Amino acid sequence: MKCAEVRNFVRLYLDSELDAKHSFEVEQHLESCAECAGLFEAEKKFDVRIGKFLRIGQATPALWEKIEAQIEPQFAKAKALWPLALAASLIVAVSIIFFARSRPLDLANAVEECHSAYVHQITTPEFSGTVPSKIAQQFGDRLDTEAFNYRPSEPAFTSSGARLCHVEGVPVALILGHCANTPVSMIVFKKSELDHFPQTKRKLESGDPIACSRSGRFQFAARIVDDHVVCVVGDEPRLALEDLLKTVRRADG
Ligand SMILES: [Zn+2]
Repeated sequence: MKCAEVRNFVRLYLDSELDAKHSFEVEQHLESCAECAGLFEAEKKFDVRIGKFLRIGQATPALWEKIEAQIEPQFAKAKALWPLALAASLIVAVSIIFFARSRPLDLANAVEECHSAYVHQITTPEFSGTVPSKIAQQFGDRLDTEAFNYRPSEPAFTSSGARLCHVEGVPVALILGHCANTPVSMIVFKKSELDHFPQTKRKLESGDPIACSRSGRFQFAARIVDDHVVCVVGDEPRLALEDLLKTVRRADG
Protein backbone atom coordinates (compact mmCIF):
# COMPACT_ATOMS: atom_id res chain seq x y z
CA MET A 1 0.00 0.00 0.00
CA LYS A 2 1.24 3.47 -0.86
CA CYS A 3 1.22 6.45 1.53
CA ALA A 4 -1.65 8.26 -0.24
CA GLU A 5 -3.80 5.11 -0.16
CA VAL A 6 -3.06 4.48 3.51
CA ARG A 7 -3.90 8.06 4.44
CA ASN A 8 -7.26 7.71 2.72
CA PHE A 9 -8.07 4.95 5.19
CA VAL A 10 -7.09 6.89 8.31
CA ARG A 11 -10.67 7.64 9.48
CA LEU A 12 -12.02 4.19 8.71
CA TYR A 13 -9.01 2.58 10.43
CA LEU A 14 -9.26 4.66 13.61
CA ASP A 15 -13.02 4.15 13.76
CA SER A 16 -12.41 0.38 13.37
CA GLU A 17 -14.58 0.34 10.30
CA LEU A 18 -11.94 -1.04 7.98
CA ASP A 19 -12.12 -4.69 6.97
CA ALA A 20 -9.50 -7.12 8.27
CA LYS A 21 -7.54 -7.33 5.00
CA HIS A 22 -7.11 -3.57 4.63
CA SER A 23 -6.50 -3.11 8.37
CA PHE A 24 -3.61 -5.54 8.13
CA GLU A 25 -2.14 -3.70 5.12
CA VAL A 26 -2.42 -0.35 6.89
CA GLU A 27 -0.68 -1.74 9.99
CA GLN A 28 2.09 -3.17 7.87
CA HIS A 29 2.63 0.20 6.18
CA LEU A 30 2.62 2.11 9.47
CA GLU A 31 5.39 -0.16 10.81
CA SER A 32 7.66 0.78 7.94
CA CYS A 33 6.57 4.42 7.30
CA ALA A 34 7.37 6.89 10.09
CA GLU A 35 5.56 9.73 8.33
CA CYS A 36 2.22 7.97 8.05
CA ALA A 37 2.64 6.56 11.54
CA GLY A 38 3.08 10.11 12.86
CA LEU A 39 0.02 11.27 11.00
CA PHE A 40 -2.12 8.42 12.36
CA GLU A 41 -0.83 9.13 15.88
CA ALA A 42 -1.77 12.82 15.64
CA GLU A 43 -5.21 11.91 14.36
CA LYS A 44 -5.65 9.47 17.24
CA LYS A 45 -4.71 12.14 19.81
CA PHE A 46 -7.21 14.51 18.26
CA ASP A 47 -9.91 11.86 18.60
CA VAL A 48 -9.06 11.44 22.27
CA ARG A 49 -9.41 15.17 22.92
CA ILE A 50 -12.75 15.33 21.09
CA GLY A 51 -13.92 12.32 23.07
CA LYS A 52 -13.03 14.00 26.37
CA PHE A 53 -14.87 17.15 25.34
CA LEU A 54 -17.97 15.18 24.37
CA ARG A 55 -17.92 13.28 27.68
CA ILE A 56 -17.80 16.59 29.60
CA GLY A 57 -20.71 17.72 27.42
CA GLN A 58 -22.82 14.89 28.79
CA ALA A 59 -22.64 16.40 32.28
CA THR A 60 -24.69 19.36 31.07
CA PRO A 61 -25.57 21.38 34.23
CA ALA A 62 -21.98 21.27 35.53
CA LEU A 63 -20.64 22.19 32.13
CA TRP A 64 -22.94 25.19 31.86
CA GLU A 65 -21.92 26.39 35.31
CA LYS A 66 -18.32 26.17 34.22
CA ILE A 67 -18.99 28.03 30.97
CA GLU A 68 -20.97 30.72 32.80
CA ALA A 69 -18.15 31.15 35.31
CA GLN A 70 -15.76 31.70 32.42
CA ILE A 71 -18.06 34.12 30.63
CA GLU A 72 -18.94 36.24 33.71
CA PRO A 73 -15.57 38.05 33.93
CA GLN A 74 -15.85 38.85 30.20
CA PHE A 75 -19.17 40.56 30.86
CA ALA A 76 -17.67 42.43 33.79
CA LYS A 77 -14.83 43.53 31.52
CA ALA A 78 -17.31 44.73 28.90
CA LYS A 79 -19.19 46.70 31.57
CA ALA A 80 -15.91 48.28 32.69
CA LEU A 81 -15.35 49.38 29.08
CA TRP A 82 -18.64 51.30 28.84
CA PRO A 83 -17.15 54.62 30.05
CA LEU A 84 -14.46 54.19 27.40
CA ALA A 85 -17.09 53.62 24.72
CA LEU A 86 -18.91 56.73 25.95
CA ALA A 87 -15.69 58.75 25.75
CA ALA A 88 -15.09 57.45 22.23
CA SER A 89 -18.57 58.56 21.09
CA LEU A 90 -17.94 61.94 22.70
CA ILE A 91 -14.69 62.30 20.75
CA VAL A 92 -16.56 61.45 17.54
CA ALA A 93 -19.24 64.06 18.34
CA VAL A 94 -16.63 66.72 19.11
CA SER A 95 -14.76 65.87 15.90
CA ILE A 96 -17.96 66.29 13.90
CA ILE A 97 -18.54 69.71 15.49
CA PHE A 98 -14.92 70.65 14.93
CA PHE A 99 -15.08 69.45 11.32
CA ALA A 100 -18.27 71.46 10.73
CA ARG A 101 -16.58 74.50 12.22
CA SER A 102 -13.38 74.02 10.24
CA ARG A 103 -15.33 73.84 6.97
CA PRO A 104 -13.76 76.33 4.54
CA LEU A 105 -14.93 79.92 4.70
CA ASP A 106 -17.12 81.10 1.81
CA LEU A 107 -14.41 83.46 0.55
CA ALA A 108 -11.72 80.75 0.83
CA ASN A 109 -13.90 78.46 -1.28
CA ALA A 110 -14.52 81.15 -3.85
CA VAL A 111 -10.87 82.14 -4.35
CA GLU A 112 -9.63 78.56 -4.56
CA GLU A 113 -10.55 78.37 -8.25
CA CYS A 114 -8.63 81.59 -8.99
CA HIS A 115 -5.50 80.32 -7.28
CA SER A 116 -5.79 76.84 -8.75
CA ALA A 117 -5.94 78.35 -12.25
CA TYR A 118 -2.79 80.33 -11.45
CA VAL A 119 -0.96 77.25 -10.12
CA HIS A 120 -1.84 75.36 -13.32
CA GLN A 121 -0.77 78.35 -15.42
CA ILE A 122 -4.26 78.75 -16.89
CA THR A 123 -4.32 82.25 -15.40
CA THR A 124 -1.28 84.43 -16.11
CA PRO A 125 -0.50 88.05 -15.20
CA GLU A 126 -1.84 90.62 -17.65
CA PHE A 127 -0.02 93.70 -16.47
CA SER A 128 2.15 95.14 -13.73
CA GLY A 129 1.85 98.57 -12.20
CA THR A 130 -1.32 100.60 -12.81
CA VAL A 131 -4.40 99.12 -14.46
CA PRO A 132 -4.31 99.76 -18.22
CA SER A 133 -7.12 102.16 -19.19
CA LYS A 134 -8.50 99.59 -21.67
CA ILE A 135 -9.19 97.15 -18.83
CA ALA A 136 -10.38 99.94 -16.52
CA GLN A 137 -13.00 101.02 -19.05
CA GLN A 138 -14.50 97.53 -19.21
CA PHE A 139 -15.35 97.56 -15.54
CA GLY A 140 -16.48 101.14 -15.13
CA ASP A 141 -17.46 102.31 -11.66
CA ARG A 142 -17.23 98.96 -9.98
CA LEU A 143 -13.54 98.63 -10.70
CA ASP A 144 -11.38 99.40 -7.74
CA THR A 145 -8.01 100.45 -9.17
CA GLU A 146 -6.69 101.11 -5.67
CA ALA A 147 -6.88 97.39 -4.96
CA PHE A 148 -3.92 96.86 -7.27
CA ASN A 149 -1.69 99.02 -5.08
CA TYR A 150 -1.51 96.58 -2.16
CA ARG A 151 1.65 94.52 -1.75
CA PRO A 152 3.34 92.59 1.04
CA SER A 153 6.51 94.35 2.15
CA GLU A 154 7.84 90.89 2.98
CA PRO A 155 10.87 90.48 0.69
CA ALA A 156 10.13 86.75 0.39
CA PHE A 157 7.15 87.59 -1.84
CA THR A 158 7.92 88.39 -5.45
CA SER A 159 5.12 89.49 -7.73
CA SER A 160 5.08 88.55 -11.39
CA GLY A 161 2.15 90.83 -12.21
CA ALA A 162 -1.56 91.22 -11.80
CA ARG A 163 -4.89 90.80 -13.52
CA LEU A 164 -8.56 91.31 -12.90
CA CYS A 165 -10.57 88.38 -11.77
CA HIS A 166 -14.16 87.76 -10.72
CA VAL A 167 -14.88 85.99 -7.46
CA GLU A 168 -18.59 85.28 -7.04
CA GLY A 169 -19.33 88.16 -9.39
CA VAL A 170 -17.11 90.58 -7.46
CA PRO A 171 -14.30 92.13 -9.55
CA VAL A 172 -11.09 91.69 -7.59
CA ALA A 173 -7.45 92.55 -8.02
CA LEU A 174 -5.52 89.32 -8.43
CA ILE A 175 -1.85 89.81 -7.69
CA LEU A 176 0.16 86.77 -8.72
CA GLY A 177 3.41 86.00 -7.03
CA HIS A 178 5.69 83.46 -5.39
CA CYS A 179 7.08 82.83 -1.95
CA ALA A 180 10.35 81.02 -2.69
CA ASN A 181 9.10 78.61 -5.38
CA THR A 182 5.53 78.33 -4.13
CA PRO A 183 2.85 80.19 -6.11
CA VAL A 184 0.94 82.58 -3.85
CA SER A 185 -2.08 84.60 -4.97
CA MET A 186 -3.13 87.83 -3.35
CA ILE A 187 -6.73 88.93 -3.81
CA VAL A 188 -7.79 92.48 -2.93
CA PHE A 189 -11.24 94.05 -3.11
CA LYS A 190 -13.33 96.79 -1.51
CA LYS A 191 -14.51 96.14 2.02
CA SER A 192 -18.05 97.02 0.92
CA GLU A 193 -18.08 93.86 -1.25
CA LEU A 194 -17.63 91.71 1.85
CA ASP A 195 -21.43 91.36 1.98
CA HIS A 196 -21.05 88.71 -0.72
CA PHE A 197 -19.12 86.57 1.76
CA PRO A 198 -21.17 86.60 4.99
CA GLN A 199 -19.11 83.90 6.75
CA THR A 200 -15.85 85.79 6.25
CA LYS A 201 -17.55 89.06 7.12
CA ARG A 202 -18.84 87.64 10.40
CA LYS A 203 -15.43 86.25 11.26
CA LEU A 204 -13.57 89.48 10.52
CA GLU A 205 -16.14 91.59 12.31
CA SER A 206 -16.19 89.35 15.38
CA GLY A 207 -12.76 90.66 16.31
CA ASP A 208 -10.52 88.11 14.59
CA PRO A 209 -7.85 90.27 12.95
CA ILE A 210 -7.14 87.45 10.50
CA ALA A 211 -9.64 84.91 9.13
CA CYS A 212 -7.94 81.62 8.26
CA SER A 213 -9.33 78.62 6.52
CA ARG A 214 -8.51 75.75 4.23
CA SER A 215 -9.06 76.55 0.61
CA GLY A 216 -9.16 73.16 -1.08
CA ARG A 217 -5.58 71.91 -0.86
CA PHE A 218 -4.35 75.44 -0.11
CA GLN A 219 -4.28 77.63 2.98
CA PHE A 220 -6.14 80.88 3.04
CA ALA A 221 -5.86 83.96 5.22
CA ALA A 222 -7.78 87.25 4.98
CA ARG A 223 -7.67 90.55 6.81
CA ILE A 224 -8.93 94.07 6.44
CA VAL A 225 -6.34 96.68 5.46
CA ASP A 226 -7.70 100.23 5.34
CA ASP A 227 -11.00 99.94 3.45
CA HIS A 228 -9.98 96.78 1.58
CA VAL A 229 -10.12 93.07 2.15
CA VAL A 230 -6.79 91.40 1.42
CA CYS A 231 -6.48 87.62 1.10
CA VAL A 232 -3.50 85.41 0.44
CA VAL A 233 -3.81 81.84 -0.85
CA GLY A 234 -1.09 79.28 -1.33
CA ASP A 235 0.30 75.89 -0.52
CA GLU A 236 2.16 77.39 2.43
CA PRO A 237 1.92 76.81 6.18
CA ARG A 238 -0.91 78.84 7.69
CA LEU A 239 1.43 80.81 9.93
CA ALA A 240 3.68 81.77 7.01
CA LEU A 241 0.64 83.12 5.14
CA GLU A 242 -0.52 85.02 8.22
CA ASP A 243 2.93 86.61 8.58
CA LEU A 244 2.94 87.52 4.91
CA LEU A 245 -0.55 89.04 5.20
CA LYS A 246 0.47 91.15 8.19
CA THR A 247 3.08 92.93 6.01
CA VAL A 248 0.58 93.95 3.30
CA ARG A 249 0.51 97.74 2.81
CA ARG A 250 -0.88 100.13 0.32
CA ALA A 251 1.94 101.27 -1.92
CA ASP A 252 0.88 104.43 -3.71
CA GLY A 253 1.74 104.72 -7.33
ZN1 LIG B 1 3.47 6.17 4.33
